[in-house]
Amino acid sequence: MGPESYYDILGVARDANEKEIKKAYRDLARKYHPDVCKESGAEEKFKKINEAYSVLSDSQKRAQYDHMGHDAFSHASKGSYSGGGGYGGGFNADFSGFGDIFDTFFGGGGGGGRSAGPRPGADLLMKMRITLEDAALGTEKEVGLTHSEPCPDCDGTGSQTKKLNTCTTCGGTGQMRQMSQSIFGQFVRMSTCTACGGRGRIPEERCRACGGSGRQQVHRKVTVNVPPGVDTGMRLRMEGFGEAGDYGAPNGDLYIELEVAPHKRFVRRGYDLETPVTISAAQAALGSKVEIGTIDGRNIDLSIPPGVQHGTGLKIPGEGIRRHGRPGDLIARVGIVIPGSLSAEQRELYEKLLEIEGKRPQKSHKKGFFQDVVDKVKETVK
Ligand SMILES: [Zn+2]
Ligand SMILES: [Zn+2]
Repeated sequence: MGPESYYDILGVARDANEKEIKKAYRDLARKYHPDVCKESGAEEKFKKINEAYSVLSDSQKRAQYDHMGHDAFSHASKGSYSGGGGYGGGFNADFSGFGDIFDTFFGGGGGGGRSAGPRPGADLLMKMRITLEDAALGTEKEVGLTHSEPCPDCDGTGSQTKKLNTCTTCGGTGQMRQMSQSIFGQFVRMSTCTACGGRGRIPEERCRACGGSGRQQVHRKVTVNVPPGVDTGMRLRMEGFGEAGDYGAPNGDLYIELEVAPHKRFVRRGYDLETPVTISAAQAALGSKVEIGTIDGRNIDLSIPPGVQHGTGLKIPGEGIRRHGRPGDLIARVGIVIPGSLSAEQRELYEKLLEIEGKRPQKSHKKGFFQDVVDKVKETVK
């Protein structure tokens, strides 16, 4: 006979939902809790119930379990959530979910529930403001960072001798059993060991430089590689640049949240950039060549086609935001600007234009022209 599946242990169907699994677990945990149940083998049964629950209550582990089958899974997963040590049988650090569920179950609060052992360092978040040029082209930036690193005096162990001893209070599990009374009888609750802070090990002799923490605060200059194409709100992750972890555990990561400053000449639209280009009425009518600046500081010639209208966007391919693959485009938005004052020669030519268009210039019929317009408007409104 093969080993019982986790579903069999909890007595639930293969397709049982989260709620059913939790309920089955609670009922069985109550029944077989070694401090309540005096049946022989209750402790062994309780341990199995917890093991089954720790897998089936975690959707990722459950999916893996369903996929791999019981044997393969229980072998493969040994390393990840069977605690070492153990102290005098029964359940031990394997079941970090235990503290949590019983806390909520009985409405008890405080302590317990943390997983034991060396803890990884915390992640850090930093904000960085960059220019649109940096976002479009990519850049390297040096930033000042204050974070914790392993203490060089003790190599991060926290021990002057660099030796750590197993905590005698918790036997190295990092957790303590606490007996408590409830309506169901006496219960054991797991809580973080106060002697070692849950680490399971204690410095042989406290390091004088770091006071036993194994860490020190340092200020560093860090070079951040900003790839092209980034935008406001994006976060760059620098693995291992966060706070130092406990001895033997990984550091946290540093996240850099970007903010791209507005630009006075370019507006970003996704991976495209838009820039205004102003031309005269004559340039618009006849076509022209103008010079426009690109985001990387070059000047390029732009052909304005004859007859271009105000507000038209002229596309210059590949001169937008760079990124992995094809860069965005640069859109030159045409603005036709009429001069505010005219030279005598310009006035003459504009008057000539007006004449050709069959309209009378304003200057010789100031009042009459205006009146005509008003009358016309009145007519059309009627
Ligand atoms: Zn301890
Ligand atoms: Zn130290």
